[in-house]
Amino acid sequence: TKFIFVTGGVVSGIGKGISAASIGRLLKDRGLSVFMQKFDPYLNVDPGTMSPYQHGEVFVTKDGAETDLDLGHYERFIDEELTKGASITTGKVYSTVIAKERRGDYDGATVQVIPHITNEIKNAVYKAAKESKADVVITEIGGTVGDIESLPFLEAIRQIHSENKKSDVLFVHTVLVPNIPGSDELKTKPTQHSFKELMSNGIKTDVIIVRSNGLVTDDLREKISLFCDVPVEAVIQSTNVELIYEVPLVFHEQHLDDYILKELDLEDRPASKGKW
Ligand code: ADP
Repeated sequence: TKFIFVTGGVVSGIGKGISAASIGRLLKDRGLSVFMQKFDPYLNVDPGTMSPYQHGEVFVTKDGAETDLDLGHYERFIDEELTKGASITTGKVYSTVIAKERRGDYDGATVQVIPHITNEIKNAVYKAAKESKADVVITEIGGTVGDIESLPFLEAIRQIHSENKKSDVLFVHTVLVPNIPGSDELKTKPTQHSFKELMSNGIKTDVIIVRSNGLVTDDLREKISLFCDVPVEAVIQSTNVELIYEVPLVFHEQHLDDYILKELDLEDRPASKGKW
């Protein structure tokens, strides 16, 4: 199994979920089977008790799990039914670890964030791979890089990267490139900071997805490529579209599927049929 982790920087609500789902769609179109999961840093065990006014719809999976609305995007984009393993929250991870501790499973050890919480997070990724038998598992990390709550998730995916082959794990980072009103300049500084923040957690992103009100020109792409140490072709703009279902097409036009397959050593996959 190959693993893709999608993180977000600069601001929340930047389109991580749509980016993750669009990547899933593109890979499915190349003949790969895909499973998607979402990690949410909040302490609720699941979104079932959260106000829909605050959190949006609760998406119920076929096995009855009450999950984050992003799972609805995933199912609609990749056209696969997901299961309870697709939705993991900090609350769920902690309650599992605390239940194990009470049962004596840790054999008297001091139970800590690293390794006990991070191991439980890693288990959720590996279990999803095992149970779904998918070629690729795409995991979206909720929240924004730099949040205190996201740290155990970032540490867990760093460990997954170090315990697997380089060609089996890919990191995607979604950022905002704001424009200054008046001068209409696009600014990459927040992207550079976000890249650094991710690096300080031991994660070097392979792909950068840019949301912006302006056009990401070749010059801007080169600048991001230079500062964030990714090839120019790995800087992808998620253009503002009217219908979110156009996003996979936008990514495909920038050859994101080819790039991901190359990085994951899956180049022998047939070319996209481009039928969406
Ligand atoms: P996040 O996962 O980062 O919180 P989402 O993927 O849920 O963000 O997206 C937030 C909102 O932005 C959604 O309402 C989605 O429809 C919209 N959105 C995402 N990407 C695009 C895009 N390329 N063009 C227009 N709207 C988008």
